[in-house]
Amino acid sequence: MPELPEVEVTRRGLVPQLSGRKISGVSVREPRLRWPVPNEVLSLAGRTVGTIRRRGKYLLVDCGDGHLILHLGMSGSLRVLPPETPAGKHDHFDLLLGDRMLRLRDPRRFGAVLWAAGDIAAHPLLAHLGVEPLSRALTPARLHALTRGHRTAIKHFLMDGRRVVGVGNIYASESLFRARINPRRAAGKITIEQSEKLVKAIKDTLNAAIRAGGSTLRDFAGADGAAGYAQQRHYVYDRAGKNCRRCRTPIRKLVQGQRSTYFCPTCQK
Ligand SMILES: [Zn+2]
Repeated sequence: MPELPEVEVTRRGLVPQLSGRKISGVSVREPRLRWPVPNEVLSLAGRTVGTIRRRGKYLLVDCGDGHLILHLGMSGSLRVLPPETPAGKHDHFDLLLGDRMLRLRDPRRFGAVLWAAGDIAAHPLLAHLGVEPLSRALTPARLHALTRGHRTAIKHFLMDGRRVVGVGNIYASESLFRARINPRRAAGKITIEQSEKLVKAIKDTLNAAIRAGGSTLRDFAGADGAAGYAQQRHYVYDRAGKNCRRCRTPIRKLVQGQRSTYFCPTCQK
């Protein structure tokens, strides 16, 4: 499933390819995605693509009088291709921009192509999203304040997009390891010192993943140019029973909120 780093790598790959270009047409071959593709999307021709921003895992393509909202869902990928490239079975949406096009491939169809006129921040899908982990808004003091009074486990808290947006299962486990915090610890019991370590760990973990994906950016416009995602060398994620890279204790797995959590019982007391 595309996580925040892959969406950010995709964004960085798309900006130089699309920004400033005029939309020449739209092709919707399958409107039944996570939500139906609205009719407004069909009449985007003539608008110019401005900047492309990201909020959580949503890509927001500024079209002047509104935003095209794109989400990769469970299995989506975006590629920039020559406009004559034949569409495959799962290629549901094309945004044509003269000598190139942006194509959404999404076998499982949990992705989204939506249109938002007016104030994008107030859009129902975005208005309740939590603080952006890579923004300056996520400070140790902010995370500490957000967690006060919450008895839920810190791992679960981090994955709640209404608090902090886009820290998925892998990155929550990895960040808690780097910060040496037990994933079962009550969020409200996190100290300010732990909050400092955790905020740094979240940013470092996400940035490392973005750098790993970013190394494939030069291939972005190729025929197989979906944003690549180099397999990260995880500290704990998916390493149950293997030795901790720091202390050699076997990594443990537990289930929290129906998601697997991995941690080192020695490093994360
Ligand atoms: Zn350890």
